[in-house]
Amino acid sequence: MAENPPRLSFLEYGAFMAFAASCRATCRRKIVGCVLFNIHKVIVSTGYNGAPAGAPQCDEDECLMVNGHCERITHAEKNAVLFAGKRCPKRGGYAFATTRPCQRCFDILVSKEIKHIYYLEEYRSEEFDREQRRICAEKEITLEKLDTNIVEIMQKAIKFHQGPGGLLTMKHPLRIEEQFPTDWNE
Ligand SMILES: [Zn+2]
Ligand SMILES: [Zn+2]
Repeated sequence: MAENPPRLSFLEYGAFMAFAASCRATCRRKIVGCVLFNIHKVIVSTGYNGAPAGAPQCDEDECLMVNGHCERITHAEKNAVLFAGKRCPKRGGYAFATTRPCQRCFDILVSKEIKHIYYLEEYRSEEFDREQRRICAEKEITLEKLDTNIVEIMQKAIKFHQGPGGLLTMKHPLRIEEQFPTDWNE
């Protein structure tokens, strides 16, 4: 019998959730998402690049460009920390971001004592790589570009759901019909 397709690993799950959060971003200068987990690997919050709730967003108004950066938005990582509030992971939490955190966001994550920072996409690394590495060494923080990409993760997720109990199997004909509105049962 064929083996069941494997579920996502914790790292893949984190990246997948950060990607999901990024799909709510409102600034097209850079679409970024972030998710925070506590030490028990339970999600405490998500965030994406966007202006504060109720304020004009870049996709409704224009970006507020200053020196080549959009200053309207709060970065995904900072938003995740802000939304987490008192639930923010302490001493050993995990942060996943779709893109490598900038120096300011990195500092915020470090100040919250998050010990594991993973990301999918490298971003302007030369400018702050040395500084971030130095802080990571001092504080024993993992800062790592994941050895995968979002397409691989999504393909694995689809395969998983094509297996037993999944949303994309024949046992769920409704779902199949939604996606392939053909004469499935004939
Ligand atoms: Zn913007
Ligand atoms: Zn940032």
